[in-house]
Formats: sequence, C-alpha cells, structure tokens
Amino acid sequence: MVKDTKFYDVLGVAPNAQDTELKKAYRKAALKYHPDKNPTPEAAEKFKEISHAYEILSDEQKRDIYDQYGEEGLSGAGAGGAGMNADDIFSQFFGGGFGGAGGPQRPTRGKDIKHSISCTLEDLYKGKTTKLALNKTILCTECEGRGGAKGKVQQCSDCHGSGMKFVTRQMGPMIQRFQTVCDKCNGTGDIMDAKDRCTRCRGKKTEQERKILQVHVDPGMKDGQRIVFSGEGDQEPGITPGDVIFIVDEKPNADFQRKGNDLFKEYEVDLLTALAGGEIAFKHISGEWIKIQVTPGEVISPGELKVVEGKSGRGNLIIQFSVKFPDSHFADEDKLKELASILPPRKEVKIPAGAVVDDCEMAKYDPSKHQQRRRADAYDSDDEDGRGGHPGVQCASQ
Ligand SMILES: [Zn+2]
Ligand SMILES: [Zn+2]
Repeated sequence: MVKDTKFYDVLGVAPNAQDTELKKAYRKAALKYHPDKNPTPEAAEKFKEISHAYEILSDEQKRDIYDQYGEEGLSGAGAGGAGMNADDIFSQFFGGGFGGAGGPQRPTRGKDIKHSISCTLEDLYKGKTTKLALNKTILCTECEGRGGAKGKVQQCSDCHGSGMKFVTRQMGPMIQRFQTVCDKCNGTGDIMDAKDRCTRCRGKKTEQERKILQVHVDPGMKDGQRIVFSGEGDQEPGITPGDVIFIVDEKPNADFQRKGNDLFKEYEVDLLTALAGGEIAFKHISGEWIKIQVTPGEVISPGELKVVEGKSGRGNLIIQFSVKFPDSHFADEDKLKELASILPPRKEVKIPAGAVVDDCEMAKYDPSKHQQRRRADAYDSDDEDGRGGHPGVQCASQ
C-alpha cells in the first residue's frame, strides 16, 4: 500500500502505526542513539536518520506524501535535511514531555528595545521632534556578519552553529538535559582557519554602532503610546532584528490635566466675578492666553464645570471653578446690609417645636490643634464606639 517503508523501518514500526506508537519508537531510539549517550559516528548517523524519519512521519501532511510518493515526493522543504535538525526535534519532543528547558534553539527574531520618551503636556499638545542617540550592535561591515572570509567559514556540525549544545543524562526514568558551550567551536558556532578570521570583528561577526534616531511625537499623542522604529534593534547573524520602541511618558502638569482628548483646568474665580460677571484669563499649554468674558447675570458656583469647545486639539478645554470668598470683615455691617437687599433671602432655620436646643459657638478650625484631638478621638472611638466630636464646634453647657 505505501510506496516505501524505509522511514517506518528506521523507527522499527509497521506502516500502519498510530501516532502514539511512532512517538514511543522515536523516544526509545532517540535516547539510545543520542550523541551525548552514544558518541560514535555510527550512532550520530543513526540519530539523524531516526530524527528525520520521525520528523516526516509525525507530520500528517508529510506522512501522506511519503506514503504515496516515497522519499522523492518530499524533495521540497522538509526533505533532505532542509527541515529541522535532529537536535531541534529531540528538544521539541523531550522539552515538552519531560519538562526540560526548551533547548538551544536560536531565536529567529531579536529582542525589541524599549525606551521611554519623556513628554510634557505642551509637547503632546504641539508635538515635538527629539534626536536620540542609540548604541546598537550591527553586523560587521567588513565580513557582513560571517566572521571570516567568504566561503571559508563552516557551520560547526556539533552545535549546528548555535555555539551551545545539549547534554542529556538519563537517571532511572528521569531524563536530565542541560545546555553547555559547544567544545568543538568554543561557542562560536563556526569552524574556520585562523588566517581566514575577519580582522575587523575578530570572528565576532558584529560591531557597535552609534545611531541617531529622530523621534517624532505627533500632536495629540497620549501617555503610553508607542513610536516604533521597525527593525532598528540589535543585529545578529541569522536573526531578524527587533524593533526600537519609544513609549510616551507624560509628565504631570501643574496647571492642566489630560482626560482622554480633553484638557482639564482648575480655576479660582473671585466672588464678585462669580456673582456679577467680569473677566477671567489664563495661559493655555499652547502658549497663547485664553480670555473669557463672564457676562453680568451669569453666576459661577463653586465646583461648577464650564467648557471651552475645541481648545484641546480634538477635545475640549474643561474648566472647574472654585470661588475665592473675601476674608472676614471685608465690609462693615451697614454695607453688608446692602447685600441683603440684593442677594436671595436667607435660608429660614427650622427647628421642630419643643426640640431641645443647644446654643453653640464656633471657632476657626486649626489643624494643629483640632486634627490632633480628632485623631486621638478616632482611636478611642474604635473601642468605645462613635464618640467622634465635630472639630471646632464647642458647645456651651446649658
Ligand atoms: Zn559548535
Ligand atoms: Zn567581521
């Protein structure tokens, strides 16, 4: 039925073997022939064979092709050693099953490099351009990352160029695996004659470069937003460089806060302007001054929110008012009587008939004096339950 049984024979299973049978057979054979356990050239060859056979047969699609057309059918990717190497398969297989640590598989993409870019609210409002110097690793410009003369550098066959290799040890039913520097190539991953070594990088394949990046912070950008320089990360042979990513770090502003697209500002207005109109003005983060006419008749209450539309890029400028009241005794009693003729009448005090009335006096609240006592009270009230007094209100006993 199948065209060729070679791969099945290598693993010692029948062509109708199930996945679990294949796995079992591979595991047994891989442990027996792994170069760390069996360091003979024949075993190494056998290890490659069984790994290759398993790579094909464990992949449903590849196994189908193999069954129908034999080894020639696989001549594309994944055939004659063009796919994963034996160690990759081994580490994939045992990495999961035995809780081992992944293996010396080289990453295919370099790390992203992240920097925060400090921005004031003004910067984010207007946008800014900053030049930043970056020290990065690049491929050696002399040998283009080969480490030596063209055609003279061979990949180390022991570690497949990774410079690291596995050591596997079986202890009873447990398999211990750990990584160690490849002794054949001293961790370089390459084999070459000393005379062919690149003189610029001395075989290291890389060099350092200082690069200036121009970072454009666009108007309206927000805290945490990313500006990405694709592929500007460190270069290394055989990997795709990662990105350099700048993350906007918004510095707090004393006068304005950002809420989404809106700008938020607290403004203290004097009582007369709040009651009788006038003018308010403040410097906007754009640098211009905002001047607003408060028309007589329009009352601004403490805590009230007002909006100046469109004065925050795509958002609005929101003003929250506090009202500055005059100090005590700002006018004499006669003048104050005039207020009564203008302002709405006093709120009538309503005490139920027959209530016990305690006539009190109040003093100015003094934190140094009253806060202390209140704290002490709070401790007491933990035990004695709700005896917390009202600070600053002293009652005359009747
Ligand atoms: Zn090596
Ligand atoms: Zn070089």
